Amino acid sequence: MSKIIVFVEQCNGTANRASTEALGAAASLGAEVIAVSFGEGAANLTLAAARTIALEGTQYSPDALAGDIAGIAKAEGANAVFCASTGTGRDLAPRVAALLDSPCFSDCTAVAADGDAIAFTRPTLAGKLIANVKSTGTAVATLRRNCFEAPEAGSAEVTIQPASADFKALLTEIAAKVGGKLDVSEAPIIVSGGRGMKEPENFKLIEDLAAAFGNAAVGASRAVVDAGWRPHSEQVGQTGKTVAPQLYFAIGISGAIQHVAGMKTSKVIVAINKDPDAAIFKLADYGIVGDALEILPALTEAVKGAVSGA
Ligand SMILES: Cc1cc2nc3c(=O)[nH]c(=O)nc-3n(C[C@H](O)[C@H](O)[C@H](O)COP(=O)(O)OP(=O)(O)OC[C@H]3O[C@@H](n4cnc5c(N)ncnc54)[C@H](O)[C@@H]3O)c2cc1C
Repeated sequence: MSKIIVFVEQCNGTANRASTEALGAAASLGAEVIAVSFGEGAANLTLAAARTIALEGTQYSPDALAGDIAGIAKAEGANAVFCASTGTGRDLAPRVAALLDSPCFSDCTAVAADGDAIAFTRPTLAGKLIANVKSTGTAVATLRRNCFEAPEAGSAEVTIQPASADFKALLTEIAAKVGGKLDVSEAPIIVSGGRGMKEPENFKLIEDLAAAFGNAAVGASRAVVDAGWRPHSEQVGQTGKTVAPQLYFAIGISGAIQHVAGMKTSKVIVAINKDPDAAIFKLADYGIVGDALEILPALTEAVKGAVSGA
């Protein structure tokens, strides 16, 4: 494996964590990693890569940026282009693949060197099956967040290159997110509640546990989203968000296949359910059988104590 281009999303010179995980995935293959980034602040990035190419520009255009990335990949003779499996990564990767006449492997959860090729692992059919695929030529892939180790920041030399201004589509506005809460797709810890919470007011117990960790987001099953207890932005599953946090709590959630499809690649899964035969226990690393409404206050106090070092 000789060279991999990693597109690094950044904001004011700080790399997005999912992108740094993609740098880690590329490095794990023993390749020379070339980071490519875009926008104001890209030139200030300090990345763990052999080099960083900062595309100087202020207007995001997926087709123009994909053209720039594909151009760099061709000029460098890269074996692969990796993007994080974020909205931007999913916007860019298929365009880059089309320009390189390469396959595009989406939402991969593992990568491995296989001679000169790369083997990719990706959940398919709503997570019911795991596909192992291999590229023989240049490959483009998006990598699921929280599945790869992010390296510490590095000191890659930055080369500045003007971004292409030849665009067909242009991003004109990003509306600020209301509330500023941590999103389930970004949080390292997710505390999800389901219909077993009995009524919407009891989600205060879920919010308290999430707050005790300090870096956790609240998630929800579709049953409670459909009931109007929680917003759709919190829904985890086949028709919600796919997440892979370090720690996932499924509280009062039965473990229906459509929910599991969205969280089964979480590193550690803790289930709380009063039914010892609930399907979620088949997947859980740790299970607590009992009434969530009684268990949660004690668990939250224990987490507060552990977090404060008491
Ligand atoms: C096409 C399609 C797409 C879908 N997409 C999604 C999706 O994206 N995400 C999703 O979540 N679902 C999805 N669903 C719905 C899914 O099939 C389930 O209906 C849903 O996940 C059930 O939610 P739940 O586990 O909260 O509720 P339930 O299935 O009602 O389970 C509640 C659980 O709480 C436990 N419980 C009850 N009281 C307590 C208590 N006091 N303490 C502890 N435990 C208690 C019960 O034992 C039970 O296991 C989809 C369905 C379809 C058909």
